[in-house]
Amino acid sequence: MKIQLLALPFLFLIACGGSEPAKESKKPAAAAKTEAAPKKEAPAPKPAPEPETPVVVDDGTVVTINLTANDAMQFNTAEIKIAAGRTVKLNLKHVGKMPAEMMGHNFVLLAQGTDLNAFSAAGVTAPKSDYIAKAMADKVIAKTKLLGGGQSDSIEFKAPAAGTYDFLCTFPGHSAIMKGKLIVS
Ligand code: ZN
Repeated sequence: MKIQLLALPFLFLIACGGSEPAKESKKPAAAAKTEAAPKKEAPAPKPAPEPETPVVVDDGTVVTINLTANDAMQFNTAEIKIAAGRTVKLNLKHVGKMPAEMMGHNFVLLAQGTDLNAFSAAGVTAPKSDYIAKAMADKVIAKTKLLGGGQSDSIEFKAPAAGTYDFLCTFPGHSAIMKGKLIVS
């Protein structure tokens, strides 16, 4: 008797175990079919590798800098190298989805000798001027607007004299990560 009682649930498990994989096996088959169909169209998404756009593009006349910023508080580069005296066109695109009030991003290029941390800290109380303190506005060589997700801005400026310059996002707290060097040679 004892053996039979123990065996019953065991058989029940086998029965259930046997039927479940049968159901599941149909699902992967169906999924495989739906996956197989888009594979034929795969060449379409392939030619759109936006991240592969070079950060700096020099066409001989204008040096274009393609910057992106995302919802993870990251610029796509921490170092930009350009030549002195060149005309620079900088495109900043916020590739995230969060609004500017929560995850605002801008590009602000600082004059040499400016304390990045002090500049950033002073701007916290200046939301109306994109978190750039009026008292420090003269330290700005170039800046974009403060952007929210999906927005972009383009600015033009003349590359400053040879040297290394700090750039940052002035949104409160961001410059700890969102900063980099513009190296002019
Ligand atoms: Zn930011």
